[in-house]
Amino acid sequence: MKLTVLYRGPLSGCNFGCEYCPFGKWKQSEEELAKDREDLARFMAWVESRTDLRISVFFTPWGEALIWPWYQEALARLTQLEHVDRAAVQTNLSCTLDWVERCKVEKLGIWATYHPEWMKRRRFVAQCEKLSALGVRHSAGMVGFVRFAEEAEALRSELPADTYLWVNAVKDGQEEPYTPEDIARFTRVDPLFPVNNTRHPSLGRACRGGESVISVDGEGTARRCHFIDEPIGNIYAPDFDAALKPRPCSKAVCGCHIGYVHLEYLELDRVFGSGILERVPATPLWNARA
Ligand code: SF4
Ligand code: SF4
Repeated sequence: MKLTVLYRGPLSGCNFGCEYCPFGKWKQSEEELAKDREDLARFMAWVESRTDLRISVFFTPWGEALIWPWYQEALARLTQLEHVDRAAVQTNLSCTLDWVERCKVEKLGIWATYHPEWMKRRRFVAQCEKLSALGVRHSAGMVGFVRFAEEAEALRSELPADTYLWVNAVKDGQEEPYTPEDIARFTRVDPLFPVNNTRHPSLGRACRGGESVISVDGEGTARRCHFIDEPIGNIYAPDFDAALKPRPCSKAVCGCHIGYVHLEYLELDRVFGSGILERVPATPLWNARA
């Protein structure tokens, strides 16, 4: 049986300070960090013990995980496990990349978000170039504030041609809704921007969330996804597997990539293939010179 786990422990601090993010420049205490580390160790022991499953793990922290060695080591260990197919992480890519050498890179996936107010474009591009040189499949992305449109175009023109650049649509919290020109501009950078700029109807629809994809927190509480609070069980309970079953979505819409890619009717697994977690389309569909 295949199972994809989106892991989100209590880590919630970040070395960047994006103004729209509640975790920006949030420093956690030594005790809080120790708790995150312990929770991750328990989760890792669980993954290691589940040799009866084919597992993919996607770290989707509230804050930035890769500045901490325990996440770097966890990725390295996961990629070395025979029954783990993929180990991916969302990151601002501010970390060093020396730990990548300890990974089986063909199983590693990186979802890198560029924050132009906190990192120089040259440095972000250099990090992506390093990932390419190391053979790590990765996507790069930006939040689609209209004020970042020019920066997104500049980043597209500087990134390696084989690096997909996604743009996350700002559905709330933007002063003005997108004009058709804004949408056309971001779509030139990211042909899948219209997909992300849609709240996909999901109520009653089949979704892999809760069946072959779950979200897990530091306590082991499993939910079908990050967007539906109701727990379905706890992965550390001996009878947990019985909780994995088809569950039509109970929300009206699903508007976030890490959720809607698992909505069956959108068939986005065909677009992304094995790059679905780190958000890399199976075949290049972008124009590197947008
Ligand atoms: S890099 Fe990510 S987690 Fe950190 S402040 Fe910015 S949006 Fe928040
Ligand atoms: S469609 Fe979205 S909100 Fe509904 S179960 Fe799937 S991931 Fe969760």
